[in-house]
Formats: sequence, C-alpha cells, structure tokens
Amino acid sequence: MGTLKVNCSHQIQSSPQAVEVKETGSFESLTKNVGRFDLKDKILLIPEMNRIGGHLLAATFRGFGIHAKVMETFRGLDLGLKYTSGKECYPCQITMGDILHFLDGEKQRLGDAFNAEDYVYFMPESDGPCRFGMYNKFQRIVLDSFPELSRVKIGALTAEDAYSLVGLIDKNRVSDLRKTAYLSVVVGDILDRLLWRIRPYEKEAGMTDRFIETSMAIMEDAFEGQGSRRDFKRILHELEKIVEKGRDIIDPDIPPKPLIGVVGEIYLRSHIHANQDLIRVLEKYGAEVVNASIAEWMNYISYDGLRTARAQLRFNLKNMRLRELKKSLQKILSFGGDLYYKEYWQKKVYSRVTTLLRLKHDHRVAELERVLERHDLFTFDVSTETCLSIAGILKCIQEGYNGVVNVYPFTCMPSTATSAIVRPLMNRLGVPYLDTPYDSSIQPGREAALRTFMYQAHQHWKRHGRRA
Ligand code: SF4
Repeated sequence: MGTLKVNCSHQIQSSPQAVEVKETGSFESLTKNVGRFDLKDKILLIPEMNRIGGHLLAATFRGFGIHAKVMETFRGLDLGLKYTSGKECYPCQITMGDILHFLDGEKQRLGDAFNAEDYVYFMPESDGPCRFGMYNKFQRIVLDSFPELSRVKIGALTAEDAYSLVGLIDKNRVSDLRKTAYLSVVVGDILDRLLWRIRPYEKEAGMTDRFIETSMAIMEDAFEGQGSRRDFKRILHELEKIVEKGRDIIDPDIPPKPLIGVVGEIYLRSHIHANQDLIRVLEKYGAEVVNASIAEWMNYISYDGLRTARAQLRFNLKNMRLRELKKSLQKILSFGGDLYYKEYWQKKVYSRVTTLLRLKHDHRVAELERVLERHDLFTFDVSTETCLSIAGILKCIQEGYNGVVNVYPFTCMPSTATSAIVRPLMNRLGVPYLDTPYDSSIQPGREAALRTFMYQAHQHWKRHGRRA
C-alpha cells in the first residue's frame, strides 16, 4: 500500500507550550472548550462529510442569523496525518486536517486580525462503544497545542440528547432551527438519491453532476431565505421542480441496471474523497446505487433514546423508584415526540417527490429492528451503526438488490462486526457482497475487486432480475 502523496506547504506549527499542556495532564480545556456555545457573532465551521447535506445545513444556520460555513475538505490531509498517531479512525484524521488547514488559511489571510475566539468548530459526538465520542476531545488536545488556536471553541452536540441545539441560539428559536435543520438533512438525502438515480442513465456524460451542483445552490438559497420562517411549502416546491427537471436527464433508451446497496460507516459512505468516489466507480462498471441516508442515523438516535428510556421506565417501575420514574417518562415523551416529528416529515417529503420519480424510500428504524429480531443476527441493545448496517443489508436482500457493499474506515469497530456477521450469510444466500475498508492509502487491487464484484452483480441480475 502506498501513502497518498500530499504537498505539505502549511505554516502551522505546534509549540513547546502545547506539549506542556499535554504533559501536565490538564483536562480543564476538554470541558471548558468543548460543548455548546452561543453562536452569536461567531463563525460556525462545519466539516464537509456529505457535501450536499453539509451545505444545506450551513445555509439553514445562516437563515437563522448564524455565520456558518462549510470548510473545504481533504486539502489538509497532510496535517491530519501529521497530528494523529495512526491509531485514530480515518474520519478523525480527515476532519483534523480540515480544521487545521482552514485555520491556517485564515491566519494567512487575516494576519494580525486573526482572532481564534471568532470561530466555533462543529464536531458532534455519540456515546460508546466506538470512538466517535473521542474525536472532539482528541482534536481539542491538538488545537490546544497551538497557542494561537487554543481559543477556538469546539461546538459538540451529543447523541445522548438527540443532538439538542439548546444553548446555541436564542431559546425561543431552538425548536424552529432544529426542525428546519432536520428538513435540510432529508432534502440533502433526496438530492443525493436523485443523483444516484439519474446519473447511470444520463443522456450525456456530466449532465447530472452539473445539474445537481446547480440544484444544491437553489436549495441553499431556499433554506437560507425561507428556513427561519419555516416556509417548508416553498422549500418543498423548489425541491419538486428540481426532481421534475432531473427526470428529464434520464435517457429512456438505457435499460435498467443491477441495483447495488451501500451500507456502512456514515462518514466514509458519505465522503467521496475518503471512499475514493466509490459510487462513481460502481456506476462505471454498470451499477445503479442506493446509499444509506444521513436521516437514517438522525432517526436512529431518537429511536435509541426512546428505546433506552422505555427500558429505564420498566426498571424504575419494578423497583418503585418514583423520582426516576418521572424522569424516564419525560425522556419517553421527548425522544418519542422527536422521532414522531422526524418520521412524519421524512415520509411526507419522500411521498411528494416519489410521485414525480421513483426514488428509494428510507426504512423506518422500528422496521429495521424487527428485521434484526426476525433473523436473530444482532440486537439493538449493542447499538452503533452495526444494527443499521446489518438490518439494512437484510432489507436489501428482501427487496431484491443485486449486491451490497459495506464501506468503512480501516479498523472501524461497528463495520468490522457487520462484516463478520453478514459475510457468511451472503455467501449462503448467493448475494454478491463486498467489504471496502479505507484509509489514506491507495489499494492497488481496489478497482479489480470492485469490477469482480460488479461481474457477480451482473450474474445475479441475469439469474434473478431486479425486483427492487
Ligand atoms: S464508527 Fe468506526 S470510524 Fe466511526 S468512530 Fe466508530 S470506530 Fe471510528
């Protein structure tokens, strides 16, 4: 494996002071400078995981008066690799590089006017058992190692309270921001699905990419202009116009192609640089692809909170812990309401656009849990993306996909577990399946593996057709 060659022209340097901070073992910064901060007069820096979703989210924040911008991604990978040990997950290295590269650029651009306190770097977290909860802590330590960057705050939303936005803006606008932000995630998913639905059948090469880029800008304007007023009707009207136009890009003479499902770790399957443009490569070898959505994870967080609160309620009832009982009831109402709202809007938006063009709906998380229980392969009690990935693969089989790709960062715990459980099953069922772990290296046999997988998918397609 060869490492990607990157040009290290950054001027950013850590200082002996930083080493001192680490060596004295002061953890104060991890609580003081990581958390929820008022975003008034700050610049909110959003990492680009999923390109469309990231830009729509930033536009939503801007509509609410917050100066939000999406940082350029992957340009600072050299810095990310330099300031990590190699044991971290690949997304942690990429995002580390993104923030250092961005701040380095700001320092060079602004000179003496650069003020680290102007920025809040957005890095959410989730609690165990994998390493996502540690990214912002680790990145805090690295930022603290640069005296001029130690005052950049890290805005950390947590999965524990379903990414509550309380404390970021005026409290009577929190609910509106939350609702609009969720809609931006669903609309981002739909634009992505539109891209994967039409690009394999486009009349002329390159048409879809140009069209989606323009469409993203239209939707950014819609969210920035209408989002804070919660004028969802106008936003969805714009979306419908885009889907209608997108439909015209499809060449009706191109026959349907084998359908491939993509599951796995959310960052890798969404970040086209990190996964070395996996979907485009699959399309090159004749696939139509459906990737798991971002909203699926958002819904899962609320579902998991509700599930845990119900278990707590049962425990507290059994042990007659009355005060705790009240707290569990409050949590059930809060997570349950959140989940209901999300699923209601997600269904509504998908129903509107799928009357115009066939796009895959998302599965309800409760349905995914039922599928897992039926097959008795894994349990939601363990949590993490493993439950979603395994259940997602089972749904793909049920719906007649012609193959599934599991994409994840090298050494990713939940995805490695997915692979271990699913691989023997796929062999038994004769459904093509491929694991695609990534780090910053170029794997020489990667394209051959994808080609072979697509050959198998074509064979599956010939034998079984495409039911989905
Ligand atoms: S899901 Fe995988 S890549 Fe992401 S933090 Fe957990 S172990 Fe790392």
